[in-house]
Amino acid sequence: MKRLIYVFGDQLSHNLPSLKGIDPNHDIILMTEVQSEVASVKHHKKKLVLILSAMRHFAKELADKGYNVRYVTLDDPENAGSFTAELDRAIVDEQPDQIVVTEPSEYRVLQEVKAWAKAMPIPVDIRPDTRFLATPQEFAQWAQGRKQLRMEYFYREMRKKHDVLIEAGGPIGGQWNYDAENRKPPKSGLLVPRPTQFQPDEITQDVIRIVDTLCHDHWGETTGFAFGVKSKEAQHVLDEFIAHRLPNFGTYQDAMVSNQPWMYHAHVGFYLNCGLLDPMVCIRAAERAYHQGHAPLNAVEGFIRQILGWREYVRGLYWLKMPAYKSQNALDAQRKLPEFFWSAQTDMKCLKICIQDTHDNAYAHHIQRLMVLGNFALLAGIHPDEINEWYLIVYADAFEWVELPNVSGMVLYADGGLLASKPYAASGAYINRMSDYCKSCRYKVTQKTGPEACPFNYLYWDFLDRLKDRLAPNPRMAMMYKNLNRIDPETHAAIKASAAAFLESLD
Ligand SMILES: Cc1cc2nc3c(=O)[nH]c(=O)nc-3n(C[C@H](O)[C@H](O)[C@H](O)COP(=O)(O)OP(=O)(O)OC[C@H]3O[C@@H](n4cnc5c(N)ncnc54)[C@H](O)[C@@H]3O)c2cc1C
Ligand code: SF4
Repeated sequence: MKRLIYVFGDQLSHNLPSLKGIDPNHDIILMTEVQSEVASVKHHKKKLVLILSAMRHFAKELADKGYNVRYVTLDDPENAGSFTAELDRAIVDEQPDQIVVTEPSEYRVLQEVKAWAKAMPIPVDIRPDTRFLATPQEFAQWAQGRKQLRMEYFYREMRKKHDVLIEAGGPIGGQWNYDAENRKPPKSGLLVPRPTQFQPDEITQDVIRIVDTLCHDHWGETTGFAFGVKSKEAQHVLDEFIAHRLPNFGTYQDAMVSNQPWMYHAHVGFYLNCGLLDPMVCIRAAERAYHQGHAPLNAVEGFIRQILGWREYVRGLYWLKMPAYKSQNALDAQRKLPEFFWSAQTDMKCLKICIQDTHDNAYAHHIQRLMVLGNFALLAGIHPDEINEWYLIVYADAFEWVELPNVSGMVLYADGGLLASKPYAASGAYINRMSDYCKSCRYKVTQKTGPEACPFNYLYWDFLDRLKDRLAPNPRMAMMYKNLNRIDPETHAAIKASAAAFLESLD
């Protein structure tokens, strides 16, 4: 029996289900760099370099283990351009008896793979992706009959199921969540450790040349590419995080500082999502750090919650609600994406810094994505399709299964409150409290209306006002609407005028 094992660019794990039981004498592993995926959206150049270089390193590791690897590069003149066309070509050349594949992470690709089972002349074995900590079926079971799908409750189940930070059947320390101790504003003069970076080797340099040539019109630059591209390097990034950043992770989780794009975050999302790092390895490493007295519980629990809770939860939600989730627009947001999301040419310093960080690094940390970029998109009413595409393009860790619920659910409330109990809307005061951005901004964060006022201020009230029929009945919005109702008519009119003028300038 000769099997053709198709491995995709986010399946770079040696424990991949489709590689289990592989016969090195007969089986062939197929890996392809195809235009249909590279250009499905115009991904950031650094993201493409990461994935293509990691694919090539993974293929080399497999070949070094003695496996047969059929690898098709993007610049191969014979490259047929899509997963299916490359599969057709491989079947003709290799004459396999069976196709084996691990379930793709994205709905669209899964449909393509399912179509193979009908169209191909040989059987297709589609195996569940066991690299996650909850199956889509488990999530669906948990979600069944619940009106609201709150991450916190799912997370508690996951803590119990995987016995993480548990003692005597309950949470270590007596609480499930230590966020009350987290999320402090940044102290001035904070000495943030440097991120772990790597010099591009020959393989990566080749990929950089290809991306610069074939994807020259994509966003971002390849210059300064310094991500790890092998599982060993990803492990090193994790080790450095545990040693140097984890103790402060919780405290400064929401802090934003100019010229410090990496802060105390782990920078492991890109490695987890393409398969170079295993989520449980990250969780156990953090748990060990707590037991060894190296990092406090608030930091360790906070970090573990992101991976065991949020990461698994958004994947569960994605598979539960796709494909309908993608077209939801509960707040009827219709605006086009402003040009400055690409150029960073805006006087709003917070947006300028977050967009520039994103451009330079294909990375921005969570709170920049949520409370600056996302908050702006929410308040300005940008259409979910426009802003989802932007997030999918610009971040090296962006894959639809994780990007879409974060953007449509967490940021835009486009799913009508399935993921978030209320919109994460905030005025400039929040950004001012959690960052040093406002100090050098031409707008005044304390001013509510007029040409000098921080646009987040009037956009925030205008958003609440515009959507009061939809949002005011939500009990979690009661305080916000109470405050809106206290605003005197004159100020209210000035807010509306400032917001209208600003939004018009965007169009
Ligand atoms: C609008 C928006 C878009 C996002 N898009 C993506 C995306 O495309 N891909 C992606 O992996 N994450 C996304 N996130 C979640 C989060 O911002 C990133 O996972 C994180 O910034 C990655 O950097 P890090 O590894 O330094 O994370 P850390 O802050 O150090 O967190 C550790 C890990 O926890 C996981 N995690 C944390 N928060 C989330 C979350 N909300 N959802 C899922 N996993 C989470 C990630 O795997 C992350 O690597 C998005 C968040 C928002 C608000
Ligand atoms: S004043 Fe407003 S626009 Fe300027 S940086 Fe602060 S929050 Fe952003």
